[in-house]
Amino acid sequence: MKILITGGAGYIGSHTNRYFTSMGDETVVLDNLSYGHREAVKWGRLVVGDIGDRAMLDSLMAEERFDAVIDFAGFISVGESVENPSKYYENNVVKMKALLDAAVAHDIKYFVFSSSAAIFGEPSRVPIDEEHAKNPINPYGRTKLIGEMMLEDYGRAHGLVSCPLRYFNAAGDSSDALIGEAHDPETHLIPLVLRATRTGKPMRVFGDNYDTRDGSCIRDYIHVEDLAEAHYLGLKYIMEHKKSEAFNLGSSDGMSVLELIAEAERVTGKPVPHEIVERREGDPAELIASNGKARSLLGWTPKKSNVGTILRDAWNWEQNRKY
Ligand code: UDP
Repeated sequence: MKILITGGAGYIGSHTNRYFTSMGDETVVLDNLSYGHREAVKWGRLVVGDIGDRAMLDSLMAEERFDAVIDFAGFISVGESVENPSKYYENNVVKMKALLDAAVAHDIKYFVFSSSAAIFGEPSRVPIDEEHAKNPINPYGRTKLIGEMMLEDYGRAHGLVSCPLRYFNAAGDSSDALIGEAHDPETHLIPLVLRATRTGKPMRVFGDNYDTRDGSCIRDYIHVEDLAEAHYLGLKYIMEHKKSEAFNLGSSDGMSVLELIAEAERVTGKPVPHEIVERREGDPAELIASNGKARSLLGWTPKKSNVGTILRDAWNWEQNRKY
């Protein structure tokens, strides 16, 4: 198969690109390199361009005749989306529409979409299954939900078959440290914990007064290589069944921020200097996925998503990163 991977120079996209090529598929990565890294595209062909550039999409799609699109070209920062919603609606909605229009015009039938647990907002129950109410509480989550709604509408009107994948907390890196997480600025917990370990400069724990077992927030960390495999299985599934299907992707295990810090100290053998500060706005106390649907329909089993493995891979990357 030949697959267009938009945003394939980014964190989850680059691991997914690697996975598909390891399975024998041909990939073209389209990335404007605004956040992605050229060095992360070690497999397939890299085209530097923007998903909002319809003329470029037309010529690329006419030339390559893709079987499917996997779309990672979204902006991902919740805090930034609150301060600058326009940037998020422009990229995650307006430009995504250009990509969808081009896909339909070039008769591409299958579309896998990076969605997010953020579409659910403050959960009324955990674990969160696919039927849970969708009430995003920030512009980022709203743009992802709109993306899913566009896919539904394009499916009805044009027969586009889609697979929205709602990631919980993507974490970890390739175990050989060839590619890994490299956000700038970094806002995610695990890289910041390991950076504090390496530099000795304290990281901040956002709140220890939540209604959880130790007062800090609980999240469901899922290894990026498990996510990469889920894209492969998801695409195979929708191609086989010719039916759109959304999946929540997490380990179904919750870990608190303070538990994660303790585990990082165990894995690295070093202290994690940290200080407790105010809560961060918009952080739900607990987010845990129900992954039953992905397990039963896709046969997906997270293999690397215990926090020890995630931290070992992330520590290796932190010490050996190339970009
Ligand atoms: N967090 C923290 N300090 C940081 C970054 C994150 O305490 O410097 C907490 C955050 O409040 C949340 C968890 O770590 O409970 C995971 O946050 P992250 O930003 O990695 O992912 P999110 O859950 O926002 O998608």
